[in-house]
Amino acid sequence: MREPFLSAIPILKKLEDAGYEAYFVGGSVRDYLLHKPINDVDIATSALPEEVKDIFPKTVDIGIEHGTILILFGKKSYEITTFRTEGDYQDYRRPREVSFIRSLPEDLKRRDFTMNAIAMDKTGQLIDPYNGQQAIQNKIIKTVGNPKDRFGEDALRMMRAVRFVSQLSFRITEQTLAALKELAPLLNKIAVERKTAEFEKLLMGENWREALAIMLDANINMFLPGLKDRRQQLEKFSSYQCEDFTKIEMWSLLINSFQLSAKEIEDFLRAWRLPVKEIKEVKSIIASLKKRLHEEWTLYDMYKAGWAVIESVEKLYCEIKGIAAIQKVQQLRIKFDSLPIKNSKEIVVTGNDLMDWFSREPGSWLKEMLSKIEQAILARQVKNDKQKIKEWLMACSQN
Ligand code: ATP
Ligand code: MG
Repeated sequence: MREPFLSAIPILKKLEDAGYEAYFVGGSVRDYLLHKPINDVDIATSALPEEVKDIFPKTVDIGIEHGTILILFGKKSYEITTFRTEGDYQDYRRPREVSFIRSLPEDLKRRDFTMNAIAMDKTGQLIDPYNGQQAIQNKIIKTVGNPKDRFGEDALRMMRAVRFVSQLSFRITEQTLAALKELAPLLNKIAVERKTAEFEKLLMGENWREALAIMLDANINMFLPGLKDRRQQLEKFSSYQCEDFTKIEMWSLLINSFQLSAKEIEDFLRAWRLPVKEIKEVKSIIASLKKRLHEEWTLYDMYKAGWAVIESVEKLYCEIKGIAAIQKVQQLRIKFDSLPIKNSKEIVVTGNDLMDWFSREPGSWLKEMLSKIEQAILARQVKNDKQKIKEWLMACSQN
């Protein structure tokens, strides 16, 4: 076994010492078997939530009605979930009731895909009643049980299937694809935030183009915000490479394929419930990109955009033009580093200084003069130095 499981073994031991069963489960076991980096270690136990809370001193009730308790242990946090089954499903999204049980195989049965339904005990022994290891070996995404039933219970599982295609470069079975095609409309029942989380994971996966192709094949795009009538643009988008793109850069390139106005970009991203800060970032990138597609960066544009936007815009520009980005970005970095000031906060003169020097009341002249100073500093007509700027302004006003 390796980290982060090793640090979590004492948690399983504590639960076992108290008379319960406890295992590592879910994505962490799957990623471990795939020799991939492991995110969060999830733990499943036969102990009821209240029993878990009696064993560990520091806990947070993050989803107690579903049986999940967060525990703080050795400076890290872990989710411990009580074995459960899910009763009847309502609305194709959440079970009417969750029943806590004491049997591991029953708990594994409610999980979405066979690769996610493997448990591992503290000695590294695997419990794999649905042949998840075989699916992992064959790189296959297969539901536990009939895909139509499982997608019918919880439609989000369809989004999870395609995002795993992207993240793991696995195939989905014919039967699963057929179920996706048939049941995609059920995605209308799913909360946007949950779809967004899966879609963003899809965009960030190494095999995202294939995953997007499956989405289009199964018409899943019809049930996602703003993607309904954009098949062609999505196909074009999926022809890009996008190496080392950030999430914001992926959203920006996607939106750029749609040719939207600033207002439409805002509406599109709001429909996906992106945070305001991220919507702002995407909008600045697209605005600068539009300009960049017609002309080279001026020093002033670089100063106005700031490095984060410049780098993203240049990556997008190179992707659209089909040229390598690394060198272009490096050249721009040198140019950006040579700017005498990188943002307006670095200007040493304030409005108060100007009012003081010219004995004038505040007014629109202040903004104009500060902008004039800004441009003069950038054009190296004057140094960003209080005394020097004052002398330069006095000289200007005498001419
Ligand atoms: P990631 O690496 O993104 O965390 P994951 O498989 O661990 O992937 P989680 O959302 O953390 O995904 O879920 C943990 C486990 O819970 C899954 O591996 C799976 O066994 C189960 N699970 C999660 N969502 C569902 C679902 N919608 N239906 C059934 N089982 C699910
Ligand atoms: Mg997980």
